[in-house]
Amino acid sequence: MDQIIIENMEVFGYHGVFEEEAFLGQKFIISAHLYLDTRQAGKTDDLTKSLDYGEVCQFIKKLVETERYMLIERLAEEIASQLLLTFEQLQRVGITVKKPWAPVRIPLDTVAVQIERGWHTVYLSIGSNMGDKEGYLDFAIDRLNALADTKVTAVSDYIETEPYGGVEQDNFLNGALEIQTLKTPEELLETTMGIEQEAHRERIVHWGPRTLDIDILFYDDVIMHTQKLTVPHIEIPKRAFVLEPLMSIAPYYIHPVLHRSVMELFRELQEQDSKPQIQGEQK
Ligand code: ADP
Ligand code: MG
Repeated sequence: MDQIIIENMEVFGYHGVFEEEAFLGQKFIISAHLYLDTRQAGKTDDLTKSLDYGEVCQFIKKLVETERYMLIERLAEEIASQLLLTFEQLQRVGITVKKPWAPVRIPLDTVAVQIERGWHTVYLSIGSNMGDKEGYLDFAIDRLNALADTKVTAVSDYIETEPYGGVEQDNFLNGALEIQTLKTPEELLETTMGIEQEAHRERIVHWGPRTLDIDILFYDDVIMHTQKLTVPHIEIPKRAFVLEPLMSIAPYYIHPVLHRSVMELFRELQEQDSKPQIQGEQK
């Protein structure tokens, strides 16, 4: 992707864990790699189609001068997220914070932290089969939109589906969402679980009734498996109630493990379901 590069901007600030640093201050040297699409600006020579790097420099300078953090890790993180939240053309940023006068009592050129942060495209499934189902799904969207670092960019229709997993219970209302977020997969899971809790979700029976279930289906094309989180969600190819709404907002999204589009996965599942089932097997 195209970049605008700001290299080694000098700003005086008061970051550091020592009292002297907060009192005396010191020099910080900031570099920013700004990833955006400059094609239109390149073709039209129109600044409004690009990013005003003068404005970006002033923005960073102000942040470094006015805030006070213990760690340059925190300073870098703040610069990255504030830039991404303020300048909407930015997809991704690389930030380096150098501290040439770091008080370590050994001659050195500089100590630096370098990070890359950006917007991630994530697909979520939402489901409810208790109480005001539609209200719970709308609640999930509202709570996600209320987060500073996350925005809901597409919402499927809600579809009514039969319960899954063999537990006797009410029908479900299911939907799929596309969001843009600065959160990591783990942070996003923590957030969605918090929203489930807020909706008073009770986890009494596994696969049993719930006011609100939010699952992470895809996170960019990340493939990961930890004790808490499997991405892409492991059940996607088996669940029509996930694939059907997802198909309406992301039909051509390619499953990064199965290498098939959402539409293909849905069709395959429909074909499979129309075949006679082996006795005793759940759908
Ligand atoms: P289910 O969604 O299968 O009906 P739960 O919502 O109760 O069941 O989820 C159980 C656990 O699944 C959660 O505690 C979470 O840690 C784990 N999990 C693993 N991968 C994912 C994912 N991609 N999205 C959401 N939860 C996940
Ligand atoms: Mg879940």
